[in-house]
Amino acid sequence: MKRYSVFAIAREAARYHTGWARAWRKPEPKRRYQVVIIGAGGHGLATAYYLGKNFGITDVAILEKGWLGGGNTGRNTTIIRSNYLQDPSAAIYEKARSLYEGLSQDLNYNVMFSPRGVLMLAQTEHELRGYQRTVHANRLQGIETEMIGPREVKRLCPIMNIDGPRYPVLGALWQARGGTARHDAVAWGYARACSDMGMDIIQTCEVTGIRSEGGRVTGVSTTKGEIDCDKLGVVVAGHSGVLAEKAGFRLPIESVALQALVSEPIKPCMDVVVMANTVHGYMSQSDKGEMVIGGGTDGFVNYTQRGSFQHIEETVRALTETFPMISRLKMLRQWGGIVDVTGDRSPILSKTPLENCFVNCGWGTGGFKAIPGSGWGFAELMAKGHSPLTAEFGLERFREGRFIDESVAAGVAH
Ligand SMILES: Cc1cc2nc3c(=O)[nH]c(=O)nc-3n(C[C@H](O)[C@H](O)[C@H](O)COP(=O)(O)OP(=O)(O)OC[C@H]3O[C@@H](n4cnc5c(N)ncnc54)[C@H](O)[C@@H]3O)c2cc1C
Repeated sequence: MKRYSVFAIAREAARYHTGWARAWRKPEPKRRYQVVIIGAGGHGLATAYYLGKNFGITDVAILEKGWLGGGNTGRNTTIIRSNYLQDPSAAIYEKARSLYEGLSQDLNYNVMFSPRGVLMLAQTEHELRGYQRTVHANRLQGIETEMIGPREVKRLCPIMNIDGPRYPVLGALWQARGGTARHDAVAWGYARACSDMGMDIIQTCEVTGIRSEGGRVTGVSTTKGEIDCDKLGVVVAGHSGVLAEKAGFRLPIESVALQALVSEPIKPCMDVVVMANTVHGYMSQSDKGEMVIGGGTDGFVNYTQRGSFQHIEETVRALTETFPMISRLKMLRQWGGIVDVTGDRSPILSKTPLENCFVNCGWGTGGFKAIPGSGWGFAELMAKGHSPLTAEFGLERFREGRFIDESVAAGVAH
């Protein structure tokens, strides 16, 4: 892999950009790999990357039924924060956030991490008390967050109406080191690094069956033929239930559509991320100038990857009270992704009833921010059979009642 650098840009500029190589190879699948990962979203690619980087395991295939990063990874609103309430969540999300800080250098690929700060508005007394509790918890966890008052909120985000008639802003949970990153670039950066290590990323290759013998996976059936493996990682977000069924077990997951939309591009007017969980909407401004707006999940289980007018109306109506200026913006695009939601709103990074099969899912509406930490921990789990980062996120917690309850802690978990 040729390194990207300012000198490379200058060199290519001098020769009309004819020397750039493809960022990743397009190989045909081999008959057998040491590790097969299903799903080339951020979590699958990051897992493969840290398997190679931290454990020297590079005989890896990542199988993707569509195009890499075409699932939720390329559809999310890119909020990155680690101000969760429960200790295991805070640990894995903070690991991810801190890895994001150096990810562009690590991957030699600009993932456009922008630690511009995340404001979570408190618009009811209940929310105010809840966030105060989170700040105390974060302090014990070593995560930098603080409670700020309405005047400071207005200073950080002048376009906000803090005196709304129904829900005035009473304060906010502020994480100055949270922010956003470019979602595609995260997937592309990991993909390029994996390909460089000799791993095969095989796109348009749907896994249609999982073969097992004596309680162990022997391989997978795909639209590009049979592939054998020593270990299998299932990292397919909204399709986790479907793949688990093929492997012969069930997951406590519901798949629902989550939607987002962007406005026409406008001049810079907001340089923080704002989440307004009471009215249920969140907003940031992209580098192109579009206002990126997200809402809640559909109220019914489904596999659609589309937006719906009813949701858009609900989200925009909710946000116009807090941001009156968006009522005059034209909306450009809307879309949806299939998110995989667990009962306690925490992910599953776990062994399964099949000895050499591992599952990484349940990130629901908030897994983009976790990609580096999840990949780091899941790679360790797959390589060594145990990881301190993932230890609490096993499937057995649902049987034993040891939930990591973030559903109450975060009304909107993005
Ligand atoms: C609208 C929206 C907004 C969001 N906003 C945020 C946010 O602001 N912050 C945040 O942290 N998170 C957010 N999320 C959540 C985040 O996007 C996801 O948690 C995360 O991207 C999941 O990554 P993944 O790699 O697990 O899944 P995906 O990126 O969905 O990757 C899974 C891949 O598996 C592939 N696959 C499925 N079945 C098969 C098969 N049989 N064979 C082969 N491949 C298969 C799919 O094609 C897909 O590419 C949002 C999600 C949506 C939809």
